[in-house]
Amino acid sequence: MHHTPNRALSIRLDRFATIYLNGSETALKMGSYDSPDYVFISHAHLDHICKQESQNVEAICSEETFILSTLRGFGIKRTESPFLLLDSGHILGSKSIVLEAGCEKILYTGDVNNSPLADMPKQCFPKVHTLIIESNYGRPNLVFPPRHELVKEVVDYVRENLKKSRPVVFMGYPLGKSQHVQMILDRFLPDVEKYVSPSIARYNDVYRLFSMMISEKKILCPQSQSFPRDSNWVLYYPNISGRNAFLQVIKKKYGAVLIWFSGRSLLKSYEEMLAVDRAFPLSDHADFHGLLKIVEETSPQKIFTVHGFSKEFSQELRNLGYEAYDLNSLRGRCIRLL
Ligand SMILES: [Zn+2]
Ligand SMILES: [Zn+2]
Repeated sequence: MHHTPNRALSIRLDRFATIYLNGSETALKMGSYDSPDYVFISHAHLDHICKQESQNVEAICSEETFILSTLRGFGIKRTESPFLLLDSGHILGSKSIVLEAGCEKILYTGDVNNSPLADMPKQCFPKVHTLIIESNYGRPNLVFPPRHELVKEVVDYVRENLKKSRPVVFMGYPLGKSQHVQMILDRFLPDVEKYVSPSIARYNDVYRLFSMMISEKKILCPQSQSFPRDSNWVLYYPNISGRNAFLQVIKKKYGAVLIWFSGRSLLKSYEEMLAVDRAFPLSDHADFHGLLKIVEETSPQKIFTVHGFSKEFSQELRNLGYEAYDLNSLRGRCIRLL
């Protein structure tokens, strides 16, 4: 089992592993060795796209991912998918893939959120033989608070500060998180001027292209010619450190408050580390309970965990009686699936 099988077809799953589909042998190999027949690009976050591969190999991805990746400088050779793609609820165009070998099904989730933010679409997963699942929040203590309570807490905090004439900067990943936060928060702030950074504005345009409703906003960045005159405004900005020079200027000039959105803020002393005033665990990933729900939904016989706390999550799954492996620990080995 430590060889690469004679292959009829091979698919690289993001940058993590390669699946070999063959009538007699289906196998999974961690890492990238031979040139595959296809690459599957689950979504347009940079850690899921590989520069060289995306140019030469036929890429399976959504139209949204194709446009976003092109915008980010990746020349992708997109092809019609011979496999079933399902909405994964993570960002615009994010997909999971269902591969079939004989009558057995293999599901690779990509980054997944079964409790999607804003209006991100999410589909049900089928029952499968093998599940390859992300594990960004694969530890039992990584559980997000109920969404409505969290949003209320954010809105109260924002209003409280605006009332004290302190503008608010919303910081988050510029592709995905920023758009979702706008879709959630804009409607709570009808009489407040709203600004965005240039990079967020670019991705807003792509969201609009696919009918996701995000209001037009003025640009505010270090190169801006004019700055706000009063303090009744909010700014959507990328997730950089609060020690950034522009943000420091904004803080000094307006007394602005910096809010950071990431599931990782469940981990301690995040605010101090990033030099922000508050951090809220609003996430585009499934939390620990969400991941377990996907496992129950798909009832797989074999599970491979990848990304984030893959080691811890595979151990949790083994404790629950599943046959589960951390993909990282299998580096270089070829695993027979069927
Ligand atoms: Zn992602
Ligand atoms: Zn990711």
